[in-house]
Amino acid sequence: MNLPVFDINKVTTPCYVTEEKYLRHNAEILKSVSDRTGCKILLAQKAFSMYACYPLLKQYLCGTTASGLYEARLGYEMFGGETHVYSPAYDPAQITELAKYAGHFMFNSIRQYDLHKGALTGKVCGVRVNPRFSTQEGHEIYDPCAKGSRLGQTLEAFEKDVERYGLNGISGLHFHTLCEQNSDALKATAEEVERQFGKYLGEMKWINFGGGHHITRPDYDIETLCEVIEYFRDKYSLEVYLEPGEAVALNAGFLITTVLDVIGGDTDGENDIAILDTSAACHMPDVLEMPYRPTVLDSEFSTAGEAGAKPHSYRLGGPTCLAGDVIGDYSFDRPLKAGDRLVFCDMAIYSMCKNNTFNGMPLPTIYYNRDTGIEEVKRFGYEDFLRRI
Ligand SMILES: *Cc1c(COP(=O)(O)O)cnc(C)c1O
Repeated sequence: MNLPVFDINKVTTPCYVTEEKYLRHNAEILKSVSDRTGCKILLAQKAFSMYACYPLLKQYLCGTTASGLYEARLGYEMFGGETHVYSPAYDPAQITELAKYAGHFMFNSIRQYDLHKGALTGKVCGVRVNPRFSTQEGHEIYDPCAKGSRLGQTLEAFEKDVERYGLNGISGLHFHTLCEQNSDALKATAEEVERQFGKYLGEMKWINFGGGHHITRPDYDIETLCEVIEYFRDKYSLEVYLEPGEAVALNAGFLITTVLDVIGGDTDGENDIAILDTSAACHMPDVLEMPYRPTVLDSEFSTAGEAGAKPHSYRLGGPTCLAGDVIGDYSFDRPLKAGDRLVFCDMAIYSMCKNNTFNGMPLPTIYYNRDTGIEEVKRFGYEDFLRRI
């Protein structure tokens, strides 16, 4: 587990702190994969777009991928290298501007490509395919292979489009079906993609394996990942792309919060409740959406336990009016009191880029702890709230 390198008492809360040390560690692992296999790795900005870190990341990765116009512009202006974009449908009003930033366009169907190709002379264009091969259970909202998915073409739809429009102008295929998974899931998926779409791969120049690869997790099997990349590279002479988001900034950041008050639980044995100056709904929306239970540090060296595991149990909740603005039930060695600081781990990803000002909640300050010392990157105020509504 990664612990904060900075002094948690020297920041204003709530805040996100990204650690250069951990980010670089992740980037080095990713670069070792591209060095070994020749694949190209892009940062999926939707997970992590703290552009203060781009000068570091661009030393290791070959560019960015975007989910639309603004991310594409951010990647182009702040990161450089290759800028890729995917959208389930492009807005004709944006395509010309998008073409100023992105060099690689992923389309949701050959028909979408046909609709927009006139504005995209000289661009690299590919189609997202969907093998409808699900390797995950539970999180249907994060499963592009779920029934009725709108993300990418099934073989049947793809073949109909090939008949109608041909493959002229399409130089690659893209699939993205994983979420926080190991390379066994990639291998199974890649085999299925080959079984279905293999007959088209000979005509392609590249293939993009999407994101969802938890490459920087300690138990991730990098050997298998490399084997899958090398197989497609060698058998079909393809350039292979990966576009992880999570893996780039996994465990590289923290959210620091202060306890505002502790409320006694009811007499029927419910836990005491600690109200924090941070909110699940506003500052860590994936805790509710995914949902998941973030790791909380108890002391400098240990993590808070499940409720009841340690002497002092609390439900941790936010200060908004949403009844469900609860992060979870945790237990600590010490009793919590107003003014105490708590540390939530793994908060660089899907946090800053997803937060909101519901209830008029302030946005957390953003810090970057560089090797040379901690730096305040952004501080937000009332103006930011005003501008959003
Ligand atoms: C979300 C997404 C990614 C990044 O996924 P992670 O789980 O953050 O690695 C990459 N490509 C596409 C098309 C995505 O939708």
